[in-house]
Amino acid sequence: MKDFLSTLGIKEKNAGTSTGVNYIENTSTNLITSHTPSDGSEIASVYETSKEDYEQVVKASQEAFKEWRMMPAPQRGEIVRQIGLKLREYKEPLGKLVSYEMGKIYQEGLGEVQEMIDICDFAVGQSRMLYGKTMHSERPQHRMYEQWHPLGPVGIISAFNFPVAVYSWNAMIAAICGDTVIWKGSEKTPLCSVAVQNIIGEVLKENDVPEGVFGMITGGREVGEWMTTDGRIPLISATGSIPMGKQVGKTVAARLGKTILELGGNNAIIISKEADLEMAIRAIVFGAVGTAGQRCTSTRRLIIHEDVYDELKDRLVNIYKSINIGDPLDSDTLVGPLIDQDAVDAMQNALKKVEAEGGSVVCGGDVLENLEGHYVKPAICEVENHYEIVQHETFAPILYLIKYSELDEAIELHNGVVQGLSSSMFTLNMREMERFLSHAGSDCGIANINIGTSGAEIGGAFGGEKETGGGRESGSDAWKAYMRRQTNTINWGDELPLAQGIEFDV
Ligand code: NAD
Repeated sequence: MKDFLSTLGIKEKNAGTSTGVNYIENTSTNLITSHTPSDGSEIASVYETSKEDYEQVVKASQEAFKEWRMMPAPQRGEIVRQIGLKLREYKEPLGKLVSYEMGKIYQEGLGEVQEMIDICDFAVGQSRMLYGKTMHSERPQHRMYEQWHPLGPVGIISAFNFPVAVYSWNAMIAAICGDTVIWKGSEKTPLCSVAVQNIIGEVLKENDVPEGVFGMITGGREVGEWMTTDGRIPLISATGSIPMGKQVGKTVAARLGKTILELGGNNAIIISKEADLEMAIRAIVFGAVGTAGQRCTSTRRLIIHEDVYDELKDRLVNIYKSINIGDPLDSDTLVGPLIDQDAVDAMQNALKKVEAEGGSVVCGGDVLENLEGHYVKPAICEVENHYEIVQHETFAPILYLIKYSELDEAIELHNGVVQGLSSSMFTLNMREMERFLSHAGSDCGIANINIGTSGAEIGGAFGGEKETGGGRESGSDAWKAYMRRQTNTINWGDELPLAQGIEFDV
């Protein structure tokens, strides 16, 4: 018996756990069954949202918006503050569920919940800082300023690999902005969505806030498409693969809606001959094998100076031999399972392609058939950057080694992919680091020096360029994407001068 399931209001086995939305009458009979990737066994089922249920959720969201948008922003912040407190109470069970349903190790499951708590704290402060500018009018006795208004119901579509944190980056910021949200989490991790919904539901009930402020639907691509085609939802924030983002971007653009797209990465670290290799190795291993290579920011390519290439390769191969792979809830485990059999197959195919294109698998890559579940050994490969397979994000722990001799060449290789999410350089040379961060350096949304590509803090704006989609979420001024800007001009004089000095006498 997994106590954390009952603590989070989830009934084990085929009990048809509620959709997490208590304010609608559930009409669906289709069940989505969630299995743990740790041994493939069934955890519980949830109802897939039907079209009728969807209509009810959207209507509840629209209704709740009328009330929520008129609540002063700091009071909305107070609700989010209480959600942050409630998440602190449930941090352990929710961290365990994330680990059990998604397969990341428990420490990372806890980290995800901590990210939710952090973004709640950030959003509380932001709720008092939704600043607009004041401008000087060119006309006498006129005042100009801009203000930010909420958009309405915001659709959030999220991926399996961050089943709770990415939702909160969007939902907590949208909420303090005065928007309501409708969340469709991944069909691979529906129980995480239900658990979060139950936790937030307690706060809403205690404060008499309409449940429609935080709505939720359950299902896969088809259910997601109901939102992307729905003109009542002005903004869709979608996290997932590049093919999914291209589809969502096109569909929402066709109705001139807004999007925030957070898509795949192909993240690299440049290792200079002047790098602190001890630090670099720790960052590389965490970035490449952490979450079993299933982070959007996972380190996929290492671009290594020829002088340190052999040493670094040997040391990494040695470390890879001793990595503990197994049950994600076991405290000795560093690498848990992949999400499902498709992910295992995709990794095996990628390794075959590496060899077919002339590269080699230096170590790892085996499927651990002796374990129930979807376990693989992280792999290291020697490749060239232009290989077709290296140009793609394979969502598994494969680390590609690429050699360079000149810094310009390294940066060209680094930027020579279609994705542009996270990047890093290890060097103690000030000129090299500044070059990497300059206009002629990394073309990614995130560029780090002497830390790895994964493990971003919520205070910065998170997102990437090129086919990663261009969206920004979480900290900095990402809140502006959840609001509409309005420019206001007030004439407090008794004349009606026109802008640009135009004369128009009637
Ligand atoms: P996915 O693209 O298969 O699915 C993501 C979500 O989109 C799911 O909820 C799915 O049901 C939904 N969906 C799929 N097609 C849709 C469509 N046409 N219309 C509406 N919704 C649709 O991705 P995944 O396998 O769950 O996650 C892994 C991918 O997500 C990787 O590529 C990873 O890099 C990316 N990711 C990016 C970020 C980021 O912030 N940039 C964060 C996490 C994951």
